[in-house]
Amino acid sequence: MTEFAARVESVSISGIREVFEAAGEDAINLGLGQPDFPTPSHAREAAREAISEGLADGYTSNKGIESLREAVAAKYERDQGVAVDPGDVIATTGGSEALHLAIEAHVDPGEEVIFPDPGFVSYDALTKLADGVPKPVGLREDLTLDPAAVEEAITDDTAAFVVNSPSNPTGAVASEDDIREFARIADEHDVVCISDEVYERIVFDGAHHSPMEYAETDSVVTIGACSKTYSMTGWRLGWVQASTRRIERMLRVHQYMQACASAPAQFAAEAALTGPQDRVDEMVDAFQERRDVLLDGLDDAGLDVPTPTGAFYAMPEVPEGWVDEVIDSGVVVVPGDAFGAHGEGYARISYATGMEELKEAIEIMQDATRRVA
Ligand code: PMP
Repeated sequence: MTEFAARVESVSISGIREVFEAAGEDAINLGLGQPDFPTPSHAREAAREAISEGLADGYTSNKGIESLREAVAAKYERDQGVAVDPGDVIATTGGSEALHLAIEAHVDPGEEVIFPDPGFVSYDALTKLADGVPKPVGLREDLTLDPAAVEEAITDDTAAFVVNSPSNPTGAVASEDDIREFARIADEHDVVCISDEVYERIVFDGAHHSPMEYAETDSVVTIGACSKTYSMTGWRLGWVQASTRRIERMLRVHQYMQACASAPAQFAAEAALTGPQDRVDEMVDAFQERRDVLLDGLDDAGLDVPTPTGAFYAMPEVPEGWVDEVIDSGVVVVPGDAFGAHGEGYARISYATGMEELKEAIEIMQDATRRVA
């Protein structure tokens, strides 16, 4: 007998933290996965009010307060044109818990989960923690996930595949055609499509599409969160939406591991979703402006980077030694291989930081590029 479970020994703490620690206190941090904007004041106020009035002292229903789940359903109706029953939504402790529920409820030991590589670090780890088998799939040259590559990777043992648009770490947004294909693949192969849409509102060119718009069976599980859209990473509030029978299975996991999402955060999330959305638009405009400055700067340095059209990341191909040189020069970026083996030779640059700092960091990255090129 070993002291610790094999499944927990199979994962390690994300490499991203180590980069922060290596860089020192004065470094400019382009490694962060959270917006540098405050939570909208009406969301903060709603939590304050719920607390003052004693509405947030007790457990909520396991799925979360009805009014929040209605707000999530109304969002899908408005943005995706899909009618969603509020009963088919569970409020979760961030998008992270929603991903965990989706994988726990659908993946048996030894079953495969297909996901993009480079991709968000949790897909690999949550698969291993469910005793599943990770099946990372490399991306196209433009850093989008190719539906044909996903379809090719499906075997009799595949339980699920993950789609993440807009993407962390690439900033790529899937085309409507690709999203339609993902829905078809899930339908035809009887494999669950877990669609991680936590960056859904941060899109610069074109529109966000979700497989839920095209699926003809209940093959899609959709994950969202307030974290990025409303700058609420610390509130820990997300959700999962799926068919009644899938939600019922995920609720079994949620009930025993969480009981319910934090009540004050649920009230804040409801206000964020139903209140004025101008802060979201302002934030997206600011990200777009920074993206353009960053792309110009990387281009001047001779670095190749597909234009990211969403989220707040860019992923250039970088020469050997570049990431270390940049970090040693006082700018934190994350090495691409922190997001999977296919990320090697790339770096993730987050532009969720102020314009002045970003410009300073760009100069440092340009100098570093000259030194290692
Ligand atoms: N999915 C992706 C693609 C993410 O980047 C993140 C957060 N970095 C999450 C899910 C988890 O989000 P949350 O903070 O809401 O748990």
